[in-house]
Parts: sequence; C-alpha cells; structure tokens
Amino acid sequence: MSSINKINFSDSKLGILGGGQLGKMLVNAANNWSITSFILDPSKDCSAATVCSNFIIGDFKKYEDVYSFGKLVDILTIEIEDVNTDALLQLEKEGLLVFPEPQVLEIIKDKGLQKKIYDKHNLPTSKYILLNNKEEIIAAVNEGKLKFPFVQKTRKFGYDGKGVAVIKTQEDLAGLLDGESLVEDLVAIQKEISVIIARNRKGEVAIFPPVEMIFNSAANLVEFLLSPANLSKEIEKEVIQLAIEVSNAFQLTGVLAVEMFLDKNNKIYINEVAPRPHNSGHQTIENAHTSQYEQHLRAIFGLPLGSTKLISPSVMVNLLGEEGYSGQAIYSGFEQCIQIEGANLHLYGKKETRPYRKMGHATVLDTSIENAKKKAQIIQQTLKIIS
Ligand code: ADP
Repeated sequence: MSSINKINFSDSKLGILGGGQLGKMLVNAANNWSITSFILDPSKDCSAATVCSNFIIGDFKKYEDVYSFGKLVDILTIEIEDVNTDALLQLEKEGLLVFPEPQVLEIIKDKGLQKKIYDKHNLPTSKYILLNNKEEIIAAVNEGKLKFPFVQKTRKFGYDGKGVAVIKTQEDLAGLLDGESLVEDLVAIQKEISVIIARNRKGEVAIFPPVEMIFNSAANLVEFLLSPANLSKEIEKEVIQLAIEVSNAFQLTGVLAVEMFLDKNNKIYINEVAPRPHNSGHQTIENAHTSQYEQHLRAIFGLPLGSTKLISPSVMVNLLGEEGYSGQAIYSGFEQCIQIEGANLHLYGKKETRPYRKMGHATVLDTSIENAKKKAQIIQQTLKIIS
C-alpha cells in the first residue's frame, strides 16, 4: 500500500468476513473512497452482496474458505466475530494485514476470556465464575455456593441476547443453557450504555459520545438508541475514561463497541465489547462528522481518525420483522415514514423476514432527543415488515 499522503486504493483490496447489514454499511463507506471490496458470506442474498465490488460465496467459519479468501485481498477485517481465527492467524503470519488482530479476536469471542482481561486490568465488571455445563451450575446452587438471582451466558456464539439466561428462581433453572458458560451477578440496571472507540494503527484513539440503548424485552434486542445518552457530566466522564482503559487493555486496531451497565447506585460495569462496527453506532452515519464505518476504515488503513463530534441529537430505531410473519419481506408504511422530516430510513435488503429479525433501521435527527423519539415511535408503529 502507498504511504498515507499518496494513498492509492486501487492496490489495496479490502476483504470483509460477513455480508450482513454491518458489512453492507462498511462497504458503503468504502465505496465513498472507491476502495475495491470483497465480501465472504454463505448466502448470495446477503445484504452486502449487491454493493460490494466482489462477492465470494463461502463459510467464514471454515478454515479453507477464510484462508483462500484472505489470499485475494490486501487487508482483511470482519463484520461478525464468529469467524475462523486459525485461518486469520495463519494469514497474518504470512504477512496479510488483519484487523482486528486475530489474537485479540480470539479472546473477545470467548466471554470467559474477555472477563479475565477485565480482571487483569482492574476494570469494573459484574462478579462471575466459569462453569463447564449446566449440571455444575445446579450443583453450585444446591451446595449454596451460587445464590439467586444470576445471569448465565454461554462463553461462545451468543448474540442479540441468544446465549443469555436470567435465573431468578429454582424454577428458572429449567431454562439453563447447555455448554461452557459464565455465571455472573445480576446488575440492577438503570441504563444500558455503549461507547464506540476507534484505535488506528499508530495507537491514536477517537471516541464517539456515549449512547443509551433501550431494549425490547420480548426480543432482547436494542429497540431505540438515544444519541447522545442523557448522563451527568461526571458519569459521562467516567464512562469515556473506562472506554479508553478498555481500548488500552485490548490494544486492537479498528472500532470497538464497549457496552456498559449503569446500575441504580450510579456504578458502572463493563458488560462486553464488540471488535467491529456495532448496532449502537448506526446513527453516526447521519448524526456525526464521521461515521463509525468510515472510522473503522481510517483505523485499519492506518489513516488519521475523523472527528466524532455530533451534528445533531438523534434517535435510532431498529426495524424488526413483525411478529407472526415469515417469508418474502414487504415494507408497509414506507411512503408515510419517508415524509417525516429528519427521518433517514435504511433497509438492509434481506429477502426473508422473520419475527424480530433486524430488517432495517431509521435514524431520526431533531433538535431534541424528545422530539426525535416521538418521530421514531411513529416510524416504529407505521412501518411494518410483513410477508
Ligand atoms: P449479547 O452478546 O447476546 O448481546 P449480552 O451479554 O449483551 O449478550 O446480554 C444481553 C442483555 O441481557 C443485556 O443487554 C442486558 O439487558 C441483559 N444482561 C446481560 N448481563 C446482565 C447482567 N449481569 N445483569 C443484568 N442484565 C444483564
């Protein structure tokens, strides 16, 4: 690749493992700079297939598929953590630029190893133990070593709340998950916060203002995202400082989403991190000077990071597949929603809808969070994704 001041993107082919909506938005940012992009995904109908320069069908969990894909590109990144890291380690050994660094990705993929990093760096996180199977959890409860309530999380492959069980009573033990897991104290959550921090190849960092995530309890998915989060100056400072410490602990190149809990006593806990663009940063496309997607490209290409200043308050709403509908997606109410001032609709182009599947999102800009939230709620009630 050429030096920073004489960059020539025609000789820097970007590979992305995964072609979901995050991959699509990352490619959109790459397209602004005419970077040649390659996507690896098992489905030819994935969101990113129509916008990337080159689409390769393959399984990002398989060694051979990731290895041969890596041989096609100059710089390789991800939009999903659940990829084959053995292939990434080998490609890196052979000189390929791989970000986030595969060694760090291996740690983050395992929620148990992630927790150990927080301990090692004295970072606040809820108290936990690691257990091999649900029988061990039941035994710990029976021996009085584990008290209700607690949260069980599978160490690997969890996403969007799948792989998380909240256990409050003896009866809830029937809902324990199989496999290796971590069990941690239930936090009395006041707010769920996310901070996106980028670190480039020189180790320079830039932080987007914290956002507040409001969850849909039925789907365990983020429903609304308020940017900026409504926090006291003191807590905001603490949250930002923690995000910097987490970024220093992992030392990874690219964007890192740091999810935190603020409890009812205003104590902050780190929940988990995602080493890639994240659902909690979608709104930066319209409400910040630099989007999280462009920021990720800047970071991995070794470029200076962009300004993270907000242009406007915003509320983002995830557009989820309507309950009771599965099949070819139809977007009802689209015309009404695009007439709402300040509303920016994104449809991911997924052909099939399912209940609560993330099919798109809308970011509403307005002069206040309250006004933006009212409009986001209208969009949520108007735009129905059915079949
Ligand atoms: P995922 O990786 O699937 O997103 P998370 O670890 O973020 O899983 O957990 C999903 C949700 O479960 C969180 O956003 C939060 O609402 C709830 N949760 C997770 N851990 C705890 C905890 N220790 N105390 C209370 N609620 C929790």
